[in-house]
Amino acid sequence: MAEKVCRNCKMFVTGTACPLCRTANFSRTWKGVLYVNDPNGSEVAQLLGIKAPGKYCLWVK
Ligand SMILES: [Zn+2]
Repeated sequence: MAEKVCRNCKMFVTGTACPLCRTANFSRTWKGVLYVNDPNGSEVAQLLGIKAPGKYCLWVK
């Protein structure tokens, strides 16, 4: 089964709710994986509006 990502944050979620936005707005249709260690030091993270370290997808349907 494909991993699920939060549609709001693009973050990969293993539990029942997104740890960032506390919703369960998930999608299993996504592309690309991005690991963010330092959101403030990553241009890509800032571009995507990522504010917390973690594993993200680049695109989610
Ligand atoms: Zn979220």
